[in-house]
Amino acid sequence: MNTPYRANPERYSTIPYRRSGGSGLKLPAVSLGLWHNFGGVDRFETGREVVRTAFDHGITHFDLANNYGPPPGSAEETFGALLRADLRPYRDELIISSKAGYTMWPGPYGDWGSRKYLIASLDQSLKRMGLDYVDIFYHHRPDPETPLEETMAALAHIVSSGRALYVGLSNYPAGLLRRAATLLRELGTPCVIDQPRYSLLDRHIEPEILPALADEGIGCIAFSPLAQGILTDRYLNGHIPEDSRAARGGFLKPEQITPERLDAVRRLNDIAQARGLTLARMALAWVLRHNAMTSVLIGASRPSQVLDAVAATQAAPFEAEVLAEIDRIVAPLQP
Ligand code: NDP
Repeated sequence: MNTPYRANPERYSTIPYRRSGGSGLKLPAVSLGLWHNFGGVDRFETGREVVRTAFDHGITHFDLANNYGPPPGSAEETFGALLRADLRPYRDELIISSKAGYTMWPGPYGDWGSRKYLIASLDQSLKRMGLDYVDIFYHHRPDPETPLEETMAALAHIVSSGRALYVGLSNYPAGLLRRAATLLRELGTPCVIDQPRYSLLDRHIEPEILPALADEGIGCIAFSPLAQGILTDRYLNGHIPEDSRAARGGFLKPEQITPERLDAVRRLNDIAQARGLTLARMALAWVLRHNAMTSVLIGASRPSQVLDAVAATQAAPFEAEVLAEIDRIVAPLQP
């Protein structure tokens, strides 16, 4: 791939852009995460094709974190290399996010939610990616020990110092999210987005978190909307393909692909086929059925998976009886 990259001139013609809560920021209905497949252990040219395919189809938002790899930090280095190779001329068309909150370096300052950790970590992330600023910076998980006031003041400082344009929260329970949103508003740096896990196999955000986001005017970007691949045709026949995430031995364990889940996934696949969709497309369209859902944050090990997700944004709306049937199938599987 030595020819200089020129982005597809038609890139803004397919995918819709949705406003993140009450903010001025619009995100593509599909965003690409670099948690897997972009580490130092992965093939650079494959990641490059995936990112080019995404941007060529209007996916302007790329999600990172300090610890993505492996090894930790290497996904940001890969993204820095992709910027230098291909995307640098398009910087003002990109929304790049990073996060801190999980273990990153040894000692008391490389984890959780202190001002010391968040600011030092973001400075490291900026260096790895070769950026002056990120578009969104998240606190990756709540810290039970650091005062919430300190963490939120650190996020506000990160914005006022020019290191990030917007702030977000991830993995916060509803009550804490509401308190954090109030603090950030008082500091003049409103929270623009929440990043929780959400899919057909994990609806935990529906009773409390989604109403809190609506009340606070915060957008929502759902991570692992395909349950790391379980909600695709990857494992449908009960076999674990060698090149799949479950086979590679990481966060998705073969034992998570239980007979009960497989049975439900096959029934969901029948519904998808009757609608002329792949299961992945239907699973993503189902997450996007909420008007308040800003974006689905997918992972992809190959360009075709990105195209599948882009196609999901064109799926026809669900009829009430189909939604009810899906509810019945997934209800017994909820965490
Ligand atoms: P998904 O649920 O989208 O799973 C992605 C995986 O599913 C792919 O790597 C691929 O696996 C498989 N897949 C995707 N599309 C298809 C398709 N069309 N057909 C068949 N298989 C498909 O999301 P992730 O779990 O990867 O999470 C997405 C992003 O969310 C992360 O990159 C990260 O940015 C963010 N995240 C945030 C967290 C947080 O705490 N804030 C936690 C986790 C993720 P395979 O390798 O088998 O091909």
